[in-house]
Amino acid sequence: MNILLLGSGGREDALAWRLRQSPSCETLIASPGNPGISRWAECVGIDPCDPEAVTNLAKDRDIGLVVIGPEAPLVAGVADALRSAAIPVFGPNAAAAQLEGSKGFTKDLCAANDIPTAGYVRVETVDEARNALAQFGAPVVIKADGLAAGKGVTLAMSMVEAEAAIDAAGDGPMVIEEFLEGEEASLFALVDGETAISLASAQDHKRVGEGDTGPNTGGMGAYSPAPVLTAELERRAMKEIVLPTARAMASAGTPFSGVLYAGLMLTHDGPKLIEYNVRFGDPECEAIMPLIEGDFAELLLNVATGRLSGVEPRLSPQHAVTVIVAARGYPGTPASGGLIREIEAAEQITGVTVFHAGTAQSDNGLVAKGGRVLAVTAIAETFANARARAYRAVDQIDFADGFYRSDIGWREIQRSEG
Ligand code: ATP
Repeated sequence: MNILLLGSGGREDALAWRLRQSPSCETLIASPGNPGISRWAECVGIDPCDPEAVTNLAKDRDIGLVVIGPEAPLVAGVADALRSAAIPVFGPNAAAAQLEGSKGFTKDLCAANDIPTAGYVRVETVDEARNALAQFGAPVVIKADGLAAGKGVTLAMSMVEAEAAIDAAGDGPMVIEEFLEGEEASLFALVDGETAISLASAQDHKRVGEGDTGPNTGGMGAYSPAPVLTAELERRAMKEIVLPTARAMASAGTPFSGVLYAGLMLTHDGPKLIEYNVRFGDPECEAIMPLIEGDFAELLLNVATGRLSGVEPRLSPQHAVTVIVAARGYPGTPASGGLIREIEAAEQITGVTVFHAGTAQSDNGLVAKGGRVLAVTAIAETFANARARAYRAVDQIDFADGFYRSDIGWREIQRSEG
């Protein structure tokens, strides 16, 4: 089958790399792609958020499966347009993508279906928000709903901080939430309507600085699996959180199809949902893809065509670690144009693949373009060996303008040291 992959980041490079190795993949086209993706796919420069352009390209090139990497095309209704044209697509329609786009929508769905999540109140004004605070006390979480994605969350440790956050947000939809204690882990499930199966777990590192300090980023590194999400906790998260969500979406007439990424807090009372994303995480995807065995393209086609029932994804028992190399200045204004050399040398190390997140080809060779530049991934039989390989590979790469966190996987190291 011919496959069209939408997106241009490290996540999509990892997806392209895995799809290219699938026996059922004949031609792989990526749009818009990047220099890393062009190693595995023909890159075609259309706008991935334009439903008509994507549908026309899919028809012209006899595409049997469209795989949507990022959230933006999903919200723009690209999956809806493809489904209307009877082209199999991996990724939810816009109505189901609300699970990521609207915190209020997801909280209400949890409440209506007894899905474990933090207690909450939805409010519309500063006055209502201040009144709601009394109900929770500190610490408390304040989330702007809707467009503020990623930047609208305050974890307030005191009432004074909480009131300041509410005043700063101003009138508008907000969710005031109970503060959950525990360790966070991500669960990636494949969902086709009412069937949901667990694919993989991971943990990421959102802050730019060592020891989880400094501003938030798209993610500075990840590893998979996340041993803290034990088989028993994973089973509970599927049964208590993911499956009831899939059923609720299906019975509302907006079935979810694609990958449902559950951000979980592992509390004393079991896993609770913090948030959903409706696509693979980046960089979690770069850690998960090297662990997937079997025909990945066929697996995604099964999701896209509603034939997931009875399918069991095959996962390697190895461990994967991804270290992001970013351009100096990120997550502020990243230095662009810095030369990158010796990726091939890094990939000589057993188990290592270097995915491109923000690179461009120039007359002088490969250069940085964007904040997160490379996703250096290694697999090995143990977490410690995968991590050592990943950092050896990072050291091989010659990128004077780059930086990375040297403590990716610190929780696992701490655990192993008891
Ligand atoms: P992002 O997509 O970047 O993760 P977001 O805007 O979607 O951010 P959330 O994921 O809901 O926001 O929250 C961001 C982070 O805040 C979470 O990853 C978690 O660390 C923390 N957090 C959110 N809700 C709670 C809660 N109820 N209790 C404790 N921590 C929380």
